[in-house]
Order: sequence, then C-alpha cells, then structure tokens
Amino acid sequence: MIDINNISRKQADFLANAYNKNQLAHSYLFVDNDETRALNTAYWLACLFNCTGENKPDGTCINCQQILSGNHPDVLLVKPEGRQTLGIDQIRPLKEELAKSPVESTRRFFLIKDAQKLTLPAANALLNLLEEPVAPVVSILITNNVDQILPTIRSRTQIIKFNENEKRDDRQSVLIENGFSVEELEELDDTKKVDQEIKYFYQELLERNDLALVSAHKLVDLANTTVLQNYVLLMLKLYAQKDLESSMNQRAGARMLEYLIEIDKMKFSNVNFRSLLDYLALKWRR
Ligand SMILES: [Zn+2]
Repeated sequence: MIDINNISRKQADFLANAYNKNQLAHSYLFVDNDETRALNTAYWLACLFNCTGENKPDGTCINCQQILSGNHPDVLLVKPEGRQTLGIDQIRPLKEELAKSPVESTRRFFLIKDAQKLTLPAANALLNLLEEPVAPVVSILITNNVDQILPTIRSRTQIIKFNENEKRDDRQSVLIENGFSVEELEELDDTKKVDQEIKYFYQELLERNDLALVSAHKLVDLANTTVLQNYVLLMLKLYAQKDLESSMNQRAGARMLEYLIEIDKMKFSNVNFRSLLDYLALKWRR
C-alpha cells in the first residue's frame, strides 16, 4: 500500500495548484534523493485527480483505495522489478495501452520509477508519448539522479526538483546562519585550498610561528573576493569559538575571538583584507 502521507508537501501544493488551474503538464520528471517520497507524491496527484471524497485526496474513497493498492485501471506503474534496466519490452505494451482512452477517469497516469534505468531504446520509445500523448495521459518519470536521464527526455518533461533548498549539509547551514546568501554559497562551492590555508594560519597563530605572516599573505592571494574574505574571517572565528568551548585552548580561543571581533570593526571602516590579517598576525605575537 502506498502512503500518501509521506509526500513532499511543497511539491504537492505546487501540483495541486497546477491541477486547479487546469495547467497540469503532459509529462513530469520528479527528481528526489528519496524516490519513495517522489513516487508517493505522484500517487497523491493521481488520487487528487480521481478522488470522489470531500477533502481531495482523502485516500479512503473507492478510487483512492484502488489507486493506492495499485489496482486502478487508469494509474499504471512501471519499475525495474529487480532488474538493472527498464527495457523496451516493459515500455512498449504500456505505450499501446496508453493510446486508449481512460477507463474510469478523464486522464490516465503513467508512472515510471527509477527512470535513470531506462535503456536507450526504451527512452526513445517514450519520447513522443511525453511530447504529445494520443490520449489524455500524465506521465511522471521518477529518478534520484537527473544527470543519468537522457537530455531528450529531460527537454520533454517539466522537471520538479524535490531536494532544492531542502537538505543543506552542515557546512552550508553554518554559512547561511552566518549571513551568506544562497548565491554566495555557489561561490564558496570549492574552498579546499582556502580551507587548508585557513587551518595553517590559525595553527601558526596559536603556535606563535613566524610562518603565520606568510600564510596570511597566501590567504590574501587566495581569497580574492569579498565573499571569500568574509568566509576566511568566519572560519577563523569558528576555530576560535571551538577553542573557547574546549578545555585545552579556552584562553587562546577567547583572545582570538576578541581580536577577530576587533578586525570585523576595522573591516567595516574599509581597512583592506591584507592589513586585517597582518594586524591579526602581528598583534597575536605580542
Ligand atoms: Zn479519494
């Protein structure tokens, strides 16, 4: 039994809105790390369309029950059934079936799970169905990997990304919490080199190592945009914060944080980045 409570609320609202305005597309590509949720959302839409209850979709009327148990003649599902691929032998009969008029409803639903497993011939067989179905059909392809879907398929479907703005990793969440915008996050996509240099710089500061000034200048070269510079200062603060909360370097952390806050103020008075890091390195050694 399919669980239409485990759906993406956001995408369901979007689809319901399209349905209410009579603007449902012929074909969708649902992209979700959680394929089960995406499939449930597809079933939810089929229920919304066919439900005879008051609060559509109720999941309890005869139509909903038929759909959710996989027995509704107008809601068809294709999935790999344990095989590595979805072959043309699985697509062709359904294509013929879908050329017929709906049995009970005004529209049929054709769901394909693991669409990334479609073979090239199977995908090609689907193309005209996706573009202009003979009979009223809503095709919903479901995948967890949009990169593995043929461009010809992608261009013929309305792509709905379930994970967008959803699951940020810890690093992204930290950056957002500290005032970076989503656009800025893109600029901070690959900070491996900078991250390493920040780490060296911080360690060298704590060790009162002469190399700290050298690292500071390397950082100045690497962090050549305002976003990157803000990122460097934030990372230093997070290191200091961590030390402050540790039992080992508490005092160093506290002192470092104090300096970094001072540097923030200097930054607001338009002191350039190089001078800020120099100031930090020199002041720390004293
Ligand atoms: Zn119902």
